[in-house]
Amino acid sequence: MCKEPQQFSRVVETNYFCVFGLRLLPIERIANYWRCENCRNSFVENQLDQPSQIPVIKQVITYIMMGYGMQEHREVAREICMKVTGFEFAADELRQLMRLLDAGKVNILEILKETACTINTHGKRQVIEGAFLMTHASCEIQHEDRVRINLIGNALGLPLEFIEAAIEHVRGQGYYGVRRLLPTQ
Ligand SMILES: [Zn+2]
Repeated sequence: MCKEPQQFSRVVETNYFCVFGLRLLPIERIANYWRCENCRNSFVENQLDQPSQIPVIKQVITYIMMGYGMQEHREVAREICMKVTGFEFAADELRQLMRLLDAGKVNILEILKETACTINTHGKRQVIEGAFLMTHASCEIQHEDRVRINLIGNALGLPLEFIEAAIEHVRGQGYYGVRRLLPTQ
């Protein structure tokens, strides 16, 4: 991302089952990624072509777009990805994701839970921003729409305050110029 060699850190965090302060059993890996010390992006080990949150954000945006029946507005999904991450969401890639989702082959919350440990908070914030913006573009946000965003954040292991702050940040940025769409009949 930085267009030149940078130092990176390997970040690993594990939760242990402890008794009287003694670590007995590793319970779960809560972080396992490489982080660029310059741009702070996280990467899956040995996969430096794109930050680890990018494929996840694309799936989340597509999932929300389809959930609101906004397939006709694909360009907005692509715009949101670009605005939140600075990464292109190719039309072909979007079409392919839509096919997979349509076929019921994607369990978005499972994907989020499985990939959560490869994404740092910088990346997770982008996932929430993308989810919120796609929801904002698709409808006037009601309680259940907001709950869905919380579930996404929850699957990533994020506390509610973090999700709240990410959404406030997007509002503060004027929704990155993303406007609400009218549903197509
Ligand atoms: Zn970098």
